[in-house]
Amino acid sequence: MINYKSPEEIELLRENNLLVSKTLGELAKHIRPGVSTLELDKVAEDYIRSHGAVPGFLGYNGFPNTLCVSINEEVVHGIPSAKRILREGDIVSIDCGTRMRGFYGDSAFTFAVGEVAPEVKKLLEVTRQALLLGVAQARVGNRIGDIAHAVQSYTETNGFSIVRELVGHGLGRQMHEEPEVANYGARGRGPLIREGLVICIEPMVNLGGRAVVFEKDGWTVRTKDRKPSAHFEYAIAVTPQGPDVLTTFEFIEQALNG
Ligand code: MG
Ligand code: MG
Repeated sequence: MINYKSPEEIELLRENNLLVSKTLGELAKHIRPGVSTLELDKVAEDYIRSHGAVPGFLGYNGFPNTLCVSINEEVVHGIPSAKRILREGDIVSIDCGTRMRGFYGDSAFTFAVGEVAPEVKKLLEVTRQALLLGVAQARVGNRIGDIAHAVQSYTETNGFSIVRELVGHGLGRQMHEEPEVANYGARGRGPLIREGLVICIEPMVNLGGRAVVFEKDGWTVRTKDRKPSAHFEYAIAVTPQGPDVLTTFEFIEQALNG
């Protein structure tokens, strides 16, 4: 069952996703060669707690940390570690969640560490653009498949592949609610999009093949061919005027360009 949200509930979801957005902006100041993924996790946990929320992922299905930090061939759900050190030329996907006033926030961004290879830079640009094209389809009267198709077709036209084992989701009082929001599929299929729908759209895009491996740590998902993978995630609410994006990357942009 899909829980459609009232305008008041959407505002609580906006507060959460704004805090996630600000946390990602804070993290952007710390991303550089030599930093460990556990240091990033500590920055995020302190930031979230000092702003009146709790980390949304910590303890979720037993996840041990605040952030999922996934380097290069890791697609998602990487576990922060003092031993995992960022290096020049890496990409690092950071997925962050909060819980505050009964609702969740959930958004992700993939950062370049220093200068990355041109094809990797293109991977980041295409994944981010695919997200925006998916968001544009989140309109009353469309179907979830319209989002999926927009993400998939743009990604594959650009020569990259879509991870199919993991999908976006409804967001609310639970981190993962119905409906599933796949990043591949056919136009006109799937649940009808109605006012009050709040979903996370989160393309996971591989430079090489789409196959992934679930690691023995129980969490980390990586590409089978060990080529890099990117992940960008927005939480959005559907309004009569169109998609209302609850996440913003502006704090990241300010930190990176400021
Ligand atoms: Mg997420
Ligand atoms: Mg999500």
